[in-house]
Amino acid sequence: ETIGQNLRRTVEQHGDREALVVRSQNFRATYRQLWELTSQVARGLLAFGVAKGDRVGIWSPNRFEWVVTQYAAARIGAILVNLNPAYKTAELEYALRQSGTSVLLLARAFRQSDYRKMLEEVRSKCPELRVALVLDDDWELLLSNGAKVSERTLTDREDSLQFDDPINIQYTSGTTGFPKGATLSHHNVLNNGFFVGEMVGYSAEDRVCIPVPFYHCFGMVMGNLACTSHGSCMVIPAEAFDPLAVLETVQAERCTSLYGVPTMFIAELDHPRFGEFELTSLRTGIMAGSPCPVEVMKKVQSRMNMREVTICYGMTETSPVSTQSSLDDPLDRRVSTVGRVHPHIEVKIVDAETGAVVPRGTPGELCTRGYSVMLGYWNNVEATRSSVDMAGWMHTGDLATMDADGYVKIVGRIKDMIIRGGENVYPREIEEFLHTHPGVSEAQVIGVPSEKYGEEVMAWVKAKPGVKLAEAELVTFCTGKISTFKIPRYWKFVEEFPMTVTGKVQKFRMRELSVAELG
Ligand code: ATP
Ligand code: MG
Repeated sequence: ETIGQNLRRTVEQHGDREALVVRSQNFRATYRQLWELTSQVARGLLAFGVAKGDRVGIWSPNRFEWVVTQYAAARIGAILVNLNPAYKTAELEYALRQSGTSVLLLARAFRQSDYRKMLEEVRSKCPELRVALVLDDDWELLLSNGAKVSERTLTDREDSLQFDDPINIQYTSGTTGFPKGATLSHHNVLNNGFFVGEMVGYSAEDRVCIPVPFYHCFGMVMGNLACTSHGSCMVIPAEAFDPLAVLETVQAERCTSLYGVPTMFIAELDHPRFGEFELTSLRTGIMAGSPCPVEVMKKVQSRMNMREVTICYGMTETSPVSTQSSLDDPLDRRVSTVGRVHPHIEVKIVDAETGAVVPRGTPGELCTRGYSVMLGYWNNVEATRSSVDMAGWMHTGDLATMDADGYVKIVGRIKDMIIRGGENVYPREIEEFLHTHPGVSEAQVIGVPSEKYGEEVMAWVKAKPGVKLAEAELVTFCTGKISTFKIPRYWKFVEEFPMTVTGKVQKFRMRELSVAELG
């Protein structure tokens, strides 16, 4: 099935139900209206000469036009290029050139960035870019141009598509460095979205609050595709993450499910007005993207009423989800593991050096295989070859353990592991412990170079609002409870962490800043 065929089926079954609500634009559409709008935009893109396989870029924060473009592009077999709303000119130029984008839809501006001006700066260096349409100004033009293209032209194109055609280039978060463009098919992302929805039991009754960016797989696959394949409603609180808008939206729209990376849930729970909101409509939700502290999961369950919250683990390159807990998993497993392997996917944990499967409970590199593995990095055979092996296994670069029942725990990224005096130190373990301190809002642990030990442990800590934390107090808190060599040697108290737009902490940036500071 293609994404278009799947959406059509949902429209046939649930045409009059609400499909999309975008609060910041006062936009509401039923499935029938969403279908109509995607038809118009699909024809509009055809009018601009978009052929099957052409790259259509979208550079915008979360707006209804993003969702419409996502489905319109898929319906005509164009390859949607998701551009990160935080890109500056060098990154924009890189992504446009690297993907060979010929038609670009962009917002006028986002936050302090004037997108039109930034595009003008790089445009002469992107010879393949033929058309740039500003959503705020040219949307009507796109629709009226579409009216000149016959219904038949669109259906002919739709009939020519194959489920394994590439339809998306998704750039990774850029947590560990420069983002890479993963090429994905209908089959990749539609199935993954569908199974994510199955795991949390979505139906046409569900209203899913999506505060994560669409440009990323968390938004467009686990959010949009999970909803549209189940007839659920996508509810978008704001253009970009805003904890207050999320709380208001969940209450006003009676959302049943809520998404976020851990830092987003922390910001909502710690918001001074948290107690004012009625969140009883929530039943489930998904936390994903980076290590999910058990303490935060427990609070989400008890204070946000998300009894059926699950954790997903995955990566852009695998469409994205590989493991997820299911609703009938015991509570303690649901808060402390990333669940078990998804249907129709394989997972194995191997010794990164030898490639041999390690015994249960032993940390090793997580590898995954199945329908979910990307077609490859766009125009980068070498990078593809170094992460997907001949047998089709994606080597994730993540360290994990699997227990006797198949539950997986993510230990951390291989690159983030600290080796102190020959001893392996997993930042995750120390972070989990620091989160049990009542004054700590968020803790992130990294390794910094040390002459004596090779690396030393450093913690960056953000205190809860109104709390003053001191190094000595935290050291005392750790003493006797975690091994001495794991107790951070350096501490830094911060208000925020260097972060990607997807809300992930960039440890490589933390290391750079710390090394500069420590001298
Ligand atoms: P880049 O590849 O550009 O450095 P990135 O790896 O953060 O960035 P994504 O594809 O968005 O880009 O994220 C996938 C990674 O996020 C995984 O490889 C893993 O390290 C981390 N991750 C995802 N979900 C979880 C989770 N539930 N627990 C721990 N880590 C997770
Ligand atoms: Mg990655």
